Amino acid sequence: MLLLEPSLIALPPVETGLFGAFWTLIGLFVGSFLNVCIHRFPLEDQSVFAPLRSYCPGCGRQLSAMENLPVLSWLLQRGRCKGCSMWIHWRYPLVELLGAAAFYVAWRMVPGGDLAILLIHSVVLSGLIVATFVDFDRYEIPDQVSIGGMWAAPVASFLVPALHSGGPVAQAMAGEAPVDGVAALCECFAGMALGGGFLYCVGWIGTRIYKAEAMGFGDVKLMAAGGGFIGIKGVAAALIIAVVVASVFGVLNILRFYHVVRSRQRRRRLDNRGVAEAIRTARIVGRYLPFGPYLALGIGIVLLDWKDVLTLLPFGP
Ligand SMILES: [Zn+2]
Repeated sequence: MLLLEPSLIALPPVETGLFGAFWTLIGLFVGSFLNVCIHRFPLEDQSVFAPLRSYCPGCGRQLSAMENLPVLSWLLQRGRCKGCSMWIHWRYPLVELLGAAAFYVAWRMVPGGDLAILLIHSVVLSGLIVATFVDFDRYEIPDQVSIGGMWAAPVASFLVPALHSGGPVAQAMAGEAPVDGVAALCECFAGMALGGGFLYCVGWIGTRIYKAEAMGFGDVKLMAAGGGFIGIKGVAAALIIAVVVASVFGVLNILRFYHVVRSRQRRRRLDNRGVAEAIRTARIVGRYLPFGPYLALGIGIVLLDWKDVLTLLPFGP
């Protein structure tokens, strides 16, 4: 896209280290904004822009510019609010660092120094970070990310067809010619349908087997949005990554609860009727894991370097 030529807005070329440093710094400040999104998206009475200034949830005091510096303010204030000394969770600087890391990795992996793709990838990764943390907190994925992504994916695909240059649907549509907006749009919709549709079916079947909701609708919407950016082969790879990683963490989570229940039984000297009950409790409690963060991980990995990820799959790129 001509509008996004770096030279026209007086930036160094995307390939240079100077641009990489600049983009990483942008990511740090975006991380700060992601904290606001994570905190406010689930709240009904607040939007990201109202109240405009950040405030301390402890004392309600507005924060000065010096208290709003990513990571640095938290370190300087030793993790406490200047007004009420309330403990500020280490997650705030962590999300800021994650924002910087996401922008850095997106810059490292961007094909051919394409600023438009870099911008899209960076925004998508930001949304995935927000979805991950809100899902861990509340077992839900904010519509601002999932439905927002479902609107953004077709627009981005049409404007920047290179996003889907390797997609099988887009390539079949374009034939010998380079992938154009319409072909990219078809790949986008195919990815959305496959990603959302697959998880919807899994949820539908799971609900009938377990007689309880097996897959949150938030996961379905998130995968539909992600599929719009990574196409149909990307969806397959992202789902495999998500299932494998979630299974490992699911087993670890059950083991953790088993350990908690067992040590409590030992303290109360209830040793003899312990093991079976501990396993039962751990399996029930440990089952409730949010799936969104693992979907986000899969989508993010595939988004950045999907051709190399796909070589790991049995059915190849
Ligand atoms: Zn305070």
